[in-house]
Amino acid sequence: MISAQNLKATLSMQEVLAFHGIDIPTRRKILCPFHNERTPSCHVYDDSFYCFGCGVGGDIITFEMMYSGISFRQALTWLSNLAGITVDSLPPAMGHTERKRRRDNAAADAELNHLAVEHRHLVHDLHVFKPRSPFDFVHERYVRALTNINNVKYVLNGKGF
Ligand SMILES: [Zn+2]
Repeated sequence: MISAQNLKATLSMQEVLAFHGIDIPTRRKILCPFHNERTPSCHVYDDSFYCFGCGVGGDIITFEMMYSGISFRQALTWLSNLAGITVDSLPPAMGHTERKRRRDNAAADAELNHLAVEHRHLVHDLHVFKPRSPFDFVHERYVRALTNINNVKYVLNGKGF
């Protein structure tokens, strides 16, 4: 994992948004993901965003934390993987042991990211597929989410989250 500062120098706001499937029009205003609106008032800059509608703004890490509902550390881990900061981008002069150590760390981070994503999907499913009344059809994704979310939480907690 790299420092927040390095990460911000590597990954642009546009790249983070693109990853979430948010396209940036040439005028650089998007529909705010944090409040309901019909006219785009969220401005996108190279390294930050600011919504003139609801006053929310920040850098890529703030965005990721808010958008995905994750912690600062999780956002940092997640984004550094997204930035493709892996052994391949390390200087060739680095010793074998250090390379291996970093590779192991990268693998652990990838595993953590996978869990974080899974957790997010489960939270989403719990919300979206929740039966609205006792007579409602119970969606299998709701059942699956209920079953799995505690396991995922347990593993994440075990890893210090
Ligand atoms: Zn807004």
